[in-house]
Amino acid sequence: MSGETLHVFFLGTAGALPTPMRNPPCIMVRRGSDTLLFDCGEGAQQQMMRARTGFTVDAIFITHWHADHFLGIAGLVQTLSFIGRTDPLPVYGPAWIHEAASAIRSLSRFNLRFPISSVQMSHGSEIRFTGYRVKAFATDHGMESMGYILEEDGRPGRFNREEAIRLGVPPGPLFGRLQRGETVCIARDGEDVHITPGDVMGPPRPGRSIIYTGDTRPIHRTLLDLCSNPDLLIHDATYDDQEIERAREVYHATAGEAGEAARALNARTLALVHISSRYISTAGHLKDASRVFSGTVLAPSDLDVLELPFRED
Ligand SMILES: [Zn+2]
Ligand SMILES: [Zn+2]
Repeated sequence: MSGETLHVFFLGTAGALPTPMRNPPCIMVRRGSDTLLFDCGEGAQQQMMRARTGFTVDAIFITHWHADHFLGIAGLVQTLSFIGRTDPLPVYGPAWIHEAASAIRSLSRFNLRFPISSVQMSHGSEIRFTGYRVKAFATDHGMESMGYILEEDGRPGRFNREEAIRLGVPPGPLFGRLQRGETVCIARDGEDVHITPGDVMGPPRPGRSIIYTGDTRPIHRTLLDLCSNPDLLIHDATYDDQEIERAREVYHATAGEAGEAARALNARTLALVHISSRYISTAGHLKDASRVFSGTVLAPSDLDVLELPFRED
């Protein structure tokens, strides 16, 4: 479907240490009726309750095996089993994913009622869903780690109603058939004439895309080959720019570096996440990112929701 809604729930925006206000990393993306989790930090299931998202998780993508990014899976699968889930749950992640899945299974005191499948991802791996795909890319975090791009399939071009009428197509069901890609036949001056979608549809339009970097130093040069003009870039911004040395040491990014990435990728919106517990306010982060990136910059709080509409074009 090309007209699906697309929402991002920031369920956990903390860095390695949670705070009373921020849970460990967990980003939920809901597209139409599909729900994907990107990272699943401790307490993710309670964040889902607080955000009233329900528990219909279709897949979990883990960026790397630092504990702040995956400890929530164990609790979540217990709850899913308890409330009667029987559908398999695929979990995607870098090397060690199979061991992680098996550890989660064996942590369960009682047998889970549904299977957990594990799929190892590496740079360039791609998982197809109906109407979109999720691509993995390598990041720079001092260990094997990756980020993910959710990319919708292209949308049909804009329907040119005036042109259709000029060609003699009567408004009504034939309009819908042309928009669905069918050729229609009309009678014009006593002759059958075929009107093709190409006669009345504009050029195809790109779908929406979201990039989630997970924990990383800036890696937008690699990313540029995979995705540009994302609707949303969710970037590691553990530190503000004053802590650039520290960021380099521990393989994280500053808000200013996230801003540079957003500018290089021509993102529409930048969301700064993985905020270190040392910060009470994100004012400095917002200032640092906005200095280099002129698009929308957000430092979401836990439970914030962002809707990504189609671009007007
Ligand atoms: Zn982390
Ligand atoms: Zn990490």
